[in-house]
Amino acid sequence: MKVPRYEYGAQFGDDLDVVVERIRSALVLGRYGAGEEVSAFEQAFADYVGALHGRGVNTGTDALVIALRALGIGPGDEVVTQANTFNATVAAICLVGATPVLVDADEDTFLMDVARLEPAITSRTRAIIPVHLYGRPTPMAEIVRLAGAHGLDVVEDAAQAHGAVTGGVRVGSIGRLGCFSFHPSKNLAAAGAGGIIVTGDEELATRISRLRALGQHGQNNHLVVGGNTQLDAIQAIVLQAKLPRLDGWNARRRDVAALYRAGLSGLPGIRVQDPVPDGDEHVYHLFQIRTVERDRLLRHLVEAGIDAVVRYPVPIHLQPAFGDRGWRVGQFPVAERLADELLCLPIRPDLRETEVEYVVEIVRRFFTGSPT
Ligand SMILES: *Cc1c(COP(=O)(O)O)cnc(C)c1O
Repeated sequence: MKVPRYEYGAQFGDDLDVVVERIRSALVLGRYGAGEEVSAFEQAFADYVGALHGRGVNTGTDALVIALRALGIGPGDEVVTQANTFNATVAAICLVGATPVLVDADEDTFLMDVARLEPAITSRTRAIIPVHLYGRPTPMAEIVRLAGAHGLDVVEDAAQAHGAVTGGVRVGSIGRLGCFSFHPSKNLAAAGAGGIIVTGDEELATRISRLRALGQHGQNNHLVVGGNTQLDAIQAIVLQAKLPRLDGWNARRRDVAALYRAGLSGLPGIRVQDPVPDGDEHVYHLFQIRTVERDRLLRHLVEAGIDAVVRYPVPIHLQPAFGDRGWRVGQFPVAERLADELLCLPIRPDLRETEVEYVVEIVRRFFTGSPT
């Protein structure tokens, strides 16, 4: 049996012809840029998240860069995030000229270890970027409290967590700004690149509108220096068609995760992300299992036709790109262990029960030498 990680056709189902027809008319009419299709999707996504405003950009990375710029963060400022994240979170901080400050991960949630957050805050700190990694919502109450106490802004990196819920609200709506990616691998995927920033703050939304469009306010009037990064109409059409399916997909991802959890429970060699508190909702962008036998297990799975993969085997602080930051081996030991021990099993909304059972059987066989 082959168990692939992505099945893009399944994301459109019966809607495919409708989407193609909408794209066809956009192509013929020359409606490519920031028009009705884009603003309709921006509003629909903001409504979905529970934020007032949405501003589409080219990528999730651009969303983070523009969010930081909108807050006026730049050289001399520090931004605190976690040591275990995707490169883009930290790259965005560097791209605006600010200084990234890392805090280690938590052994059980694989998220920011909030207990280490306060010691990382200095007089130069301007913002905190929690990352809702793998689709698990970060508990926000303590982060919001610390931000308030120190006069900092919270920018959520929700690139892996469209629809995740914590404390009764969706992630992205809790911080001053929430950033999402629509990269084809994410839970809500464009047919190419895409990203969005959501916020409840109208003045920030206006600033973002300028920063994503060469600083323009009206025609030929450039108020600030801005890049050029906007969601295009074709992506907005695709995303608008998929958005109503997102909750159903996330529920299916939770079902698959529950099957994995049940099937793998009792295996002494394996740990999984701690379950979320009651009422919170994980959206399982990835299903990560943790084992010291990671590399051997990966080979075993791949040989059995299972598209398992390792994400971020080299943690941020040991990446050559950040070699000038003064970080060293051993500085963030939990992030290092997670980088050595995590492995993603295939998870997609359309993964069949037989496929999940097959993956479970192959994993169990690795640890027990027998199918049960
Ligand atoms: C994907 C991702 C990004 C960047 O999004 P792109 O659209 O690929 O630029 C940022 N942060 C996290 C945590 C991500 O997973």
